[in-house]
Amino acid sequence: MKPSRLARDAIVLRRAPFSETSQVVDLLTPDDGRLSVLARGSYRDKSTFGGPLDVLTRGVADVQRRKRSELDLLHGFKITQPWRGLRRELTTWLAASHALELVRAFAWPRDREPALFDALAGVLELLDRARERYEIEAYLTSFAGRVLAIAGFVPVLDACVRCGGDVADAKRGWLSLAQGGLLCGSCSTPDRTAIVCSDGVVRLLRRALGGAPDATPGTAWTETVVSEARRAIDLYVEYRLERPLLSRRLLDRAERSPSREPVA
Ligand SMILES: [Zn+2]
Repeated sequence: MKPSRLARDAIVLRRAPFSETSQVVDLLTPDDGRLSVLARGSYRDKSTFGGPLDVLTRGVADVQRRKRSELDLLHGFKITQPWRGLRRELTTWLAASHALELVRAFAWPRDREPALFDALAGVLELLDRARERYEIEAYLTSFAGRVLAIAGFVPVLDACVRCGGDVADAKRGWLSLAQGGLLCGSCSTPDRTAIVCSDGVVRLLRRALGGAPDATPGTAWTETVVSEARRAIDLYVEYRLERPLLSRRLLDRAERSPSREPVA
């Protein structure tokens, strides 16, 4: 039988106050998926946590699972990676928050998904060191593709999703949010959810959604292609979730008026 109390590698996805002295924290773990835990007394001066827990930190969580409650107990959290670089600028912070929102949307409670944990830890490491907007967009594009692939929501990109016609050599494609894939020119007209994508964007989407991590700096993709592909994936995610991604709106706004202000 699995012991109920174990030390787990974990990334903090979300935290909220719970009474005056405690927090409820969402953790992503490799073996138990998303866990909601109660950190009793984390706001107290002399708590065992050494202060309230913060999002976008990785650590070893001492978690006690509770069978009859959706809320497990957190007895300790030893930070192993504070990801200070993510806090340096607003854009980087919002990009990392966007990665968290994608994970929160697709990580089911208590569902084992080590690939998702590795993908999140990986993109946060990259964003922690990223300086240029291009890099940030590239990492987010690859990451969003990876999350969709893990969650099993990959759109059909190798043929027209409606008629099965050829879309391989088209100069542009129409990504239908409603039908979940690319449309050929003749099928695109009646679909109001279709986003026009250049052939570069379609090629990049194919690679990102196929798991290729190559929308990275130094590769041949232009800034525009990477940025448009990121946007297309995000719109696709929003359509599947039937709700907007708040972090995407904030990130878009910050990118239009870049600020060099540190976050905290
Ligand atoms: Zn068609």
